[in-house]
Amino acid sequence: MNFCSNCAQKIIKKIPDGDNRQRFVCESCDQIFYQNPKIITGCLPLHSDSVLLCKRAIAPRSGYWTLPAGFLENGEAASAGAIRETLEEANAQVKLSHLYTLFNLPHISQIYMFYIGELIDLDFSPGEESTETRLFREPEIPWKDLAFPVITLTLKKYFQNREKNSYPFTEEDVRAGTDSEAGSPLLNESFAFRKT
Ligand SMILES: [Zn+2]
Repeated sequence: MNFCSNCAQKIIKKIPDGDNRQRFVCESCDQIFYQNPKIITGCLPLHSDSVLLCKRAIAPRSGYWTLPAGFLENGEAASAGAIRETLEEANAQVKLSHLYTLFNLPHISQIYMFYIGELIDLDFSPGEESTETRLFREPEIPWKDLAFPVITLTLKKYFQNREKNSYPFTEEDVRAGTDSEAGSPLLNESFAFRKT
């Protein structure tokens, strides 16, 4: 961000009066441009003992498997966004049960939320951002070919929880660097499911 969208003058970074953080501020008209975290909302779509995954058709991580997820839109509830992304990426309809995982990624100012959802029927197919959609039982999960650590973490938690048939909500911080638990290095600026 270099120029003011109000008056087209130069923007600087400074701590505005009464604030305690650096913001982008227009030197000419004093407009403050706040930047806040992005929310990515998605679904863990279940059917019987299987999970629906989508093979990504787009960068980043094209060709890798993911849960349907994407950026929350303005004016949209997080749960509605999860249902919409599942429909867009897998042409699948789900009935959500509850918010299951929340991941804070403070180093890239993103928050990921995944809901547990039950597939309403087995009428699913790849949407525009997917090349393939299919159900996986636990032994079939392509662990090495999952797109993002938050996907790996959500799936691992699900299969662990299933042994006790209890699926409590959890919140977790995911930091930059190698996440040995997730088995793959975290991507940095290209970590998002898709660019806005
Ligand atoms: Zn201005």
